[in-house]
Amino acid sequence: MQKIISQIIIAIFAIVGTFMIAWVLYQSELDQITSEFEQDVDQQVNTLEDELVKTRATLRHWKSFYEAAGDIEPQQFSRIALDVLESYPALDMISWTPFVHRAQRPLFEKQFQAQVPNFSILELNKKFILPKSTVSDQLLRSQMERFDPRKMFIASSEKDFYFPVMVIEPMQTAGFMVGVDLATINRINFTDSVSAAMLTGDIVALPATPSPFSPTHEPVLITFVPIQQSSTVGGQQQPQVKGFIASTLGVGKLVKQSMLVDLPEGIHFKLMDETGDDGLRLLFQTEEFATGLGDWYRRPLLDAFDRKWVVMAAPKPSYIASRISLLPYGVVVGGLVFTILLLLYLNLLRRQAAVIQRQVDERTVQLRDANENLNLANERLETLSRIDSLTDVANRRFFNETIDKEWSRAQREGLPVALMIIDVDNFKGYNDLYGHLKGDECLQAVAATLKKVFSRSGDLVARYGGEEFAIILPNAGGEAMRMAEKCRAAIEALKVSHEDSSTAACVTISIGLSSVIPTAGLKSDDLLDCADKGLYIAKEHGRNRVIYHTCHTRLSKVKQA
Ligand code: GH3
Ligand code: MG
Ligand code: MG
Repeated sequence: MQKIISQIIIAIFAIVGTFMIAWVLYQSELDQITSEFEQDVDQQVNTLEDELVKTRATLRHWKSFYEAAGDIEPQQFSRIALDVLESYPALDMISWTPFVHRAQRPLFEKQFQAQVPNFSILELNKKFILPKSTVSDQLLRSQMERFDPRKMFIASSEKDFYFPVMVIEPMQTAGFMVGVDLATINRINFTDSVSAAMLTGDIVALPATPSPFSPTHEPVLITFVPIQQSSTVGGQQQPQVKGFIASTLGVGKLVKQSMLVDLPEGIHFKLMDETGDDGLRLLFQTEEFATGLGDWYRRPLLDAFDRKWVVMAAPKPSYIASRISLLPYGVVVGGLVFTILLLLYLNLLRRQAAVIQRQVDERTVQLRDANENLNLANERLETLSRIDSLTDVANRRFFNETIDKEWSRAQREGLPVALMIIDVDNFKGYNDLYGHLKGDECLQAVAATLKKVFSRSGDLVARYGGEEFAIILPNAGGEAMRMAEKCRAAIEALKVSHEDSSTAACVTISIGLSSVIPTAGLKSDDLLDCADKGLYIAKEHGRNRVIYHTCHTRLSKVKQA
């Protein structure tokens, strides 16, 4: 269970780690693409700025030319205007609008009447007062579409001065403006422009406005280039405005023209005019789309006829998709595959460990069983090594060990030890008469009977050799004699028939008994000798009896001597 939980934790860490690495890679690629994108946009804006600068330089050049030339010849102006229009496709219209004083009006009109009979300087019919607000562009367009442009103008009323269009190119589309006093078109704030241009002597651009010359009424930038000439007023040289070169620059055309150069796929552009609150805010945009990724990138244009133009750009999803690499996705897939393999491997290890553990457990059980069996066998062997195989009582070896042990103990505790040596009477004759097998059975019966007599745990009945038995009785004093007699009686009571016995009609035993409290200098052999002595005496005295033979310290000393 613990291992499964740790595997789950490892898996979670691996997956989270994978996604984090992929995310970091994705973000760094995104940053890279964003800076690439900004470079693309910057390059684009630079091209656009170049176009504007070139246009402005051309207009300035023209201004210097006419200011130096003096008179403006209409046909020459037309030719130059057509050349300029051809070189700058973004320019929609160029016109020459002279300053006409009230006193000069008849002469001016006369010049035109050669082409148009009853011509008069024109002004905007009040019915067509054009809305100033940008929200009414729609209204302006609809008005211009519904009416014949020529019907929008009527003969001008009396004024102090006029700015009638004298030459305009291209004639096909803008010809209807010929003779129209620009000062009467309130929408373009002509008076303010004139004042500004007269003050600075430089080019003035109006807020972009829907083009009156294009059928789609795209936004155009109307510029006025003042042409000045010095004249003597009150004995002093003063610059005087002779008129304006008015031109309209199609903003959309300008942008598209510069974009044609190197606009990468998948960038959405907007060109905004942010000068004050007036004018059209949105000058140009690439096709509509929902939103760009992230924020718009803003890049102001430095030189846009003193208007605050700002390019706003955002990458389309396709721009990013075409540039982002498969690496982050590869990392995710690779990480997931790695996690799965790791989990499979860990699972395999876990299973193998479980199998090994089970084997170890089984072996441990087997080993424990084997050990138990070995212990049992050892115990059994130990028992067997102590037992006489024929009679099933202790053997001589065990007797020897026990007598020494009991001797030492009795010596330590100062208690007596009694010893009997028992011999079957006339056993040779029994064997001879009944056969050896019967003899064995007889010995078995004798041993079993002797064993039954002793119930105390410390007493030991042993086969001493041949048809002899020995019995150790630890801590037995006078009682030993009674026990010995009990043994003798018990064998006799068996009534095992022995027809060849010189003692009785049945099998009998003789017992030599001795007991002593072991003291220093005495040995267990001394006690054995004494018991043996008793046995000898018992045999001597006719068998089937118990003889106690006292064991003295002296005995040992005598023996040693
Ligand atoms: P006594 O009364 O003086 O002891 O006379 P005895 O015949 O018993 O003494 P002896 O020492 O002459 O004979 C002992 C016999 O016991 C000799 C031997 O054949 C027999 N014997 C000893 N061990 C065994 C045994 O394991 N099985 C059998 N069947 N007989 C045995
Ligand atoms: Mg014997
Ligand atoms: Mg005997």
